[in-house]
Amino acid sequence: MPPRSRLYHLPPCDVGTVWVESLTSYINRLAWMYRVSSRLLVAQEIVPQLSSEQQIPSFAKLATFSRSSAMGLNGTGDMAPEWVTILERLTLRSDLHWLTLRSWLGERPSRGYLRKTPAWCPVCYTEWREQKLPLYQPLLWMLQLVTTCPRHQVLLEDRCPHCQKYQSIITLKTTPGHCTQCQTWLGQPLDAVVEQDTMDWQEWVIHSLEELHREYVKTRALPWERFFAHLAMCLGEWGSCSKLANLTGFSRDVFYLWVGRKNRSYAHSPSLETIFEFCYACNVTPLQVMKTSDTLLQVVRDETQLQQRRPSRFTRSRVDQERCLEFIQAVLDGQEEPLGASQVARRLGYDTRLLVYHFPQECKLLTQRAQAYRRQRREKREAQVCEEVRQAVMALHEQGLFPTHGKVRTLLSDPNNIRMPKAIATWHALRRELGYES
Ligand SMILES: [Zn+2]
Ligand SMILES: [Zn+2]
Repeated sequence: MPPRSRLYHLPPCDVGTVWVESLTSYINRLAWMYRVSSRLLVAQEIVPQLSSEQQIPSFAKLATFSRSSAMGLNGTGDMAPEWVTILERLTLRSDLHWLTLRSWLGERPSRGYLRKTPAWCPVCYTEWREQKLPLYQPLLWMLQLVTTCPRHQVLLEDRCPHCQKYQSIITLKTTPGHCTQCQTWLGQPLDAVVEQDTMDWQEWVIHSLEELHREYVKTRALPWERFFAHLAMCLGEWGSCSKLANLTGFSRDVFYLWVGRKNRSYAHSPSLETIFEFCYACNVTPLQVMKTSDTLLQVVRDETQLQQRRPSRFTRSRVDQERCLEFIQAVLDGQEEPLGASQVARRLGYDTRLLVYHFPQECKLLTQRAQAYRRQRREKREAQVCEEVRQAVMALHEQGLFPTHGKVRTLLSDPNNIRMPKAIATWHALRRELGYES
């Protein structure tokens, strides 16, 4: 009789490929198998086994953790390995350590490479559902660097199209592929335009990540310190610093900061995104720089490579200003439903910051209009509910029944509406008027 695992021996999705599942997705799917809340599973099965530094004592704290720092479980930090060990023990699996970014990036302590909340490709969700495949969140979707789906060439989404909210990392109770806040199906693609520049950059990002992953699988380590040592070596050659600066658009000082020459007390470590942007502009991959000492020297010596192709964070997608203004105008004129600046940006397929940068005044107006519209709608709804409460109280009164909270509640089209402060106030006011309350 082979040993029995405490939790299901659930296989993670797509191990060994660029599509490998993330650890937090695995936790959510595991809980989904039992049809219990992932947070309950974490609270009962994992939290009691954590070492004291990682203890998450109360369920209330777990809720905050599940919406914020839980993302670190997919990362290269110290938190992930302990959770992996516990989960491997509970499921008797030995492949869960592939579900964190350590297997892609090594132990490089880097900031800001993970997204704050999960993103997703709506087309992937739709296809998986049609093909009856498990709905999961690949590690790729958790990286800030990855902004498009390599399969479908569409932008990844990170806000629910219905409630506009960001997604929980460890879910409270949600069907896979649905919004963790309002349960809406997330597989509805928006017809956003992705520029060719962005696609080229993203294709290169995935290729470079895959290359790093293959190297890690082979050697179980990624020598990032050599990346910087080789950069320092290149900077030692006369004139190379200006050439690198010309080629990449970074200032010369930045390179000296990276290699710790500017300020000896600390070497400023560039973010993963910056390292990738630097390599992309040099037309070499991070692994090439790491592995071969003269990769960068060759870049500098090669006179033909002087075209700057750095994907600047702000101009990564060029803005079709005419199309934007036309749509903004239509919203402001009331030809379209009232949308805020971020919703307009989504419809147009641009980052909100980019839209605000080009159209600051218009965006301010959009937001004001959208807020006013939402306020009006709320007031109208409140008035409707108050009217329902009034009718309910009067109906009970006429039948000679005492208008209790419970009786009024059942007469409303949505009993939950009784919780609205205005509804409660109306109920009290009417009871006072009719002499039930002093
Ligand atoms: Zn996709
Ligand atoms: Zn939602």
